[in-house]
Amino acid sequence: MVVLGIESTAHTASVGIVSDRAEVLGLASDMYRPPSGGIHPREAANHHVAMLPDLVRTAVEKAGVGPTDVDAVAFAQGPGLGPCLRAGATVARMLSLLWEKPLVPVNHCVAHVEIARVLSGLDDPLLLYASGGNTQVIAYGRGRYRVLGETLDIGIGNFLDKLWIELGGTFPGGPALELEARSGSALHELPYSVHGMDVAFSGMLTAALALHRKGVPRPDLAYSVESTAYAMLTEITERALAHRRRDGVVLGGGVACNGRLRSMVRTMVEERGGTMFAPPRPMCVDNGAMIAWTGHLAWTSRLSVPVERSGVEPRQRTDLVPTPWRGA
Ligand code: AMP
Ligand code: MG
Repeated sequence: MVVLGIESTAHTASVGIVSDRAEVLGLASDMYRPPSGGIHPREAANHHVAMLPDLVRTAVEKAGVGPTDVDAVAFAQGPGLGPCLRAGATVARMLSLLWEKPLVPVNHCVAHVEIARVLSGLDDPLLLYASGGNTQVIAYGRGRYRVLGETLDIGIGNFLDKLWIELGGTFPGGPALELEARSGSALHELPYSVHGMDVAFSGMLTAALALHRKGVPRPDLAYSVESTAYAMLTEITERALAHRRRDGVVLGGGVACNGRLRSMVRTMVEERGGTMFAPPRPMCVDNGAMIAWTGHLAWTSRLSVPVERSGVEPRQRTDLVPTPWRGA
């Protein structure tokens, strides 16, 4: 069984093709990078509309499959930016009609869990999902993936991006701040905003910009922001592990590419005697392969939608989508 998956929830348009053993047969992605400032949903969607036909062609060529080899077409239904989601969904509907294959809607956050789960070999891990727009700790329980904790304001990645742009840089800010932080060493105090298993970042953004105006050097600022923000994420992940009596943690999302975050979470998990797994970068960031793989799982449970009921859901909640392949 081979499934083609389309990802277009935010800045990345991506097409992946996977086998029923989660081998990535073909993957083609392109990220929209605004010339300045943050992402405008309409401009990102225009990028996806322009890029997706070529991305489909490239993924299909890499995989060496034809329309008759593909068993289902999956697409990210939500959560995400409406215009971006619609761009991917439109291409998925068209392929489904053209190839006469079932159309399988996939929740983007569940896809991050499922790709990390299959790559890690861990049966029932917790996911720390740290991306541009999303920051969540997710675990499976009683028929659904449950959000145990999340950001109360902006996603961690958006926070890093906004800060970097305010400091004079360009999108994406996370990787640039990571480089900058390597030459920083002075730890400046910033708001450490953990509320139970939830976090918040807007206070830290304000405080970091105030420190910047006071002349704190950019490397020290980056170091302090990383130390504080990633400690917050590590703390809520540990609290969720303890409450749910789990010992496995997987990472997902663009911010989960960060070396410092990876090592802080790894240290915490291993000190508790557990296992931590971070997927390789292409499978951490938004990608069509995770949509295809989750589409495969969903299609083994015969989850599909007719085209006329395949509307996107920009605010789709992780804990509202059925996951019958995980059992009751
Ligand atoms: P995603 O939304 O999952 O595609 O991830 C995009 C976000 O990940 C952006 O906000 C980036 O700034 C952030 N990001 C990517 N690489 C890194 C990194 N090495 N460290 C921190 N943030 C990163
Ligand atoms: Mg994502």
